[in-house]
Amino acid sequence: MKVSKMATSVSASLTRKLFNMANEIGTDVINLTLGDPDLIPALEIREAACDAIMQGQTRYSANAGLKKLREVYSEFISREYNLSIDSDKNIITTVGGMEALFLSLAATVDKDDEVIILGPYYVNYREMIHMLGGKAVVVDTMNKSDDVIVDGIKSAINDKTIGIIVNSPCNPTGDILSGELLDSIAEIANSEDLMVISDEVYNSLIYDGDEKDSIIFRDGMKDRTILVDSCSKRFAMTGWRVGFAVGPCEVIANMTKLQENVAACAPLPSQHAAIRAYQEDCEYSYIRETYQHRRDIVYNAISKIPNLSCKKPKATFYCFVDISKTGLDSESFAYQLLEKAHLAVVPGVSYGKQYANYIRIAFTLNDDLLNEAMRRLEQFCGEL
Ligand code: PLP
Repeated sequence: MKVSKMATSVSASLTRKLFNMANEIGTDVINLTLGDPDLIPALEIREAACDAIMQGQTRYSANAGLKKLREVYSEFISREYNLSIDSDKNIITTVGGMEALFLSLAATVDKDDEVIILGPYYVNYREMIHMLGGKAVVVDTMNKSDDVIVDGIKSAINDKTIGIIVNSPCNPTGDILSGELLDSIAEIANSEDLMVISDEVYNSLIYDGDEKDSIIFRDGMKDRTILVDSCSKRFAMTGWRVGFAVGPCEVIANMTKLQENVAACAPLPSQHAAIRAYQEDCEYSYIRETYQHRRDIVYNAISKIPNLSCKKPKATFYCFVDISKTGLDSESFAYQLLEKAHLAVVPGVSYGKQYANYIRIAFTLNDDLLNEAMRRLEQFCGEL
């Protein structure tokens, strides 16, 4: 059967490839590829989904999601961001953050439009922009000062540029953009009339007491920012596929129209669970505490391995590890590590071709498995 040029031109995910290879090898493989928490959502969230199913809340909802859920989101946005939004006009419930990103881009990107993404980047940005006929223009941020990043963004802008995606906290680096950099990006967006997609799906996994920041707080940004968030990482609900986007009403109206043609709505039991999850009294701090502890295990272990180095992740559940001293490129490193040590990680090249001297480690397994993974990593690196 014929397949489209677009489909064939989309790159298969290297993360998935390594994940699948790890599964094929078998049970003693330690798999640190996917950003998929091993924790489960709080009991009250699971009960809310079960109750919805038992009560027959199993049909389609409005394209934008249940009214009650949009109201709960609005209260959450007011609490967390001190922003007042109209739950009927400024918010859409989506099938995870991924669909929020896709609909945001589908509602804004025309053929040949350019969207700036900051590297290393979440690969789905590049592929989604490409699927829509646009072009992702990468500005490298790795080990760069804010001034250099700002210059990079300015020189990437031309008359085809329509927007920029900001992902802070960042997958894969675990870093947080500085307040000054967010100020500068907001200034550029205002002066160049760019839309901003602010992907904040990791903003509940910030460690060491650091405060959440967002580009949407800057002057003029509420009218040009689409804020993307999701239950996935915040409540350990990756498989439930429920997220949301907040934005200006004309964009949200168009995303809602597109939603009818993409997924109709997010799964209804998951929407009921999200209503419970986003209420103020729902307890989910155990998730952040667990990952902060695991971050320390992984970071401390890597710091002791002579031919590896990494910055301490300030957020997320990822470590982006510099492997250049091993002399291997990221794919060879990952394949050999899997074959010899039965340890699966993601090659850095997945996050942009210039990151072939990095690997990403997702610390989404328990302490014992992480300690054993670090032992295998150290042994593998020692034998190179
Ligand atoms: N944005 C980033 C940076 C991610 O890493 C992910 C998932 O890994 C997503 C968005 C989307 O996650 P979900 O669709 O599960 O909400």
